[in-house]
Amino acid sequence: GQCVAVCPTAALTEVNNTHLVWRELNNKNRHVVVQVAPAIRVAIGEMFHMAPGEITTGKIAAALRRLGFDGVFDTDFAADLTIMEEASELVHRIQHQGTLPMLTSCCPAWVKFFEHQFPDMLDIPSTCKSPQVMFGAIAKTYYAEKKQINPHDITVVSIMPCLAKKAEAKRPEFTKEEDSNVDIVITTREFAQMMKEAGIDFANLEDQPFDSMMGESTGASVIFGTTGGVIEAAARTAYEWITGDTLENVEFKALRGLEGIREATITIGDMDLRIGIAHELGNARKLLEDIRDGKSSFHAIEIMACPGGCIGGGGQPYHHGNMEIIKKRQEAIYREDQGKAKRKSHENEEVLRLYEEYLGKPYGEKAHDLLHTHYIAREKI
Ligand code: SF4
Repeated sequence: GQCVAVCPTAALTEVNNTHLVWRELNNKNRHVVVQVAPAIRVAIGEMFHMAPGEITTGKIAAALRRLGFDGVFDTDFAADLTIMEEASELVHRIQHQGTLPMLTSCCPAWVKFFEHQFPDMLDIPSTCKSPQVMFGAIAKTYYAEKKQINPHDITVVSIMPCLAKKAEAKRPEFTKEEDSNVDIVITTREFAQMMKEAGIDFANLEDQPFDSMMGESTGASVIFGTTGGVIEAAARTAYEWITGDTLENVEFKALRGLEGIREATITIGDMDLRIGIAHELGNARKLLEDIRDGKSSFHAIEIMACPGGCIGGGGQPYHHGNMEIIKKRQEAIYREDQGKAKRKSHENEEVLRLYEEYLGKPYGEKAHDLLHTHYIAREKI
């Protein structure tokens, strides 16, 4: 697939995991919960004769329920949670002379790349786990506790636009003790395959909502699906936290686009926050080499390995490098954001409830234990 060209983690063979998901769904002793990543809702329709860029969020929830999942949830919830932690980390690093720039860490192909290529710079990426892994951590703790289910009886399935997410779920840091954060990862294409096997007429499904507790999301989490979105989401929250003012116009247009490397400055109170964005690893390497050479003055940098970000991921319906398709998916991501009543991660009520009832403060001790990770220097390849 196209991923071979862009993501070193997944350059091996694509392993189809659909049979593992069917096995769990058919086992009545398992409580099987599922999460679906932001980029999938604007692409999967293409596998059912819908036009690129049709938004299918409600159909996805309906299909997952039809397939028999016990909890139908949204990775977008965990993306909002990621922003609570990542914006806290950014503000903390800025206010306490911490290491800058801070690099985003939700793309596992990118994480693997810097572990191999820049092992001397492991203190610059955010320590936040990715949304997929945060979701799993919360499902096996908070959710299990609230539902009074033994975490060992819960299977967490992820539907991801990505092949590298399969490898991410298997990292030893996320599979400690008896439980993994995430048990099975399937791609957008494998999800479509399962629906076809079940005879689901996806294009004609009635919209349904996600289940509550880990199903609410804001516009900020939707834009995680495209290049520039994670840092824009973080900026929306950091702005309000640093200034104490309400951010009226949440769209930071300077961060958007499809150029390989973008730079922008956002004024937050009396500070100019300098932001760098790169998608595809060749572009990322240039930004990283500038940092190593002391030539970089960014406060924060977002990197995604795939063209356009996750909308162009290696597990998505094939786009064959057609940037028109990527553009349509990107426009749909921004439309979905615009249509949301809430567009800032720190306004997600289910996320706020999770902190109130379980985690305590963002970036606090319990949040650190569950939602943060570390990186490992690896041999240069
Ligand atoms: Fe996966 Fe998204 Fe990274 Fe591509 S950009 S490797 S789809 S996380």
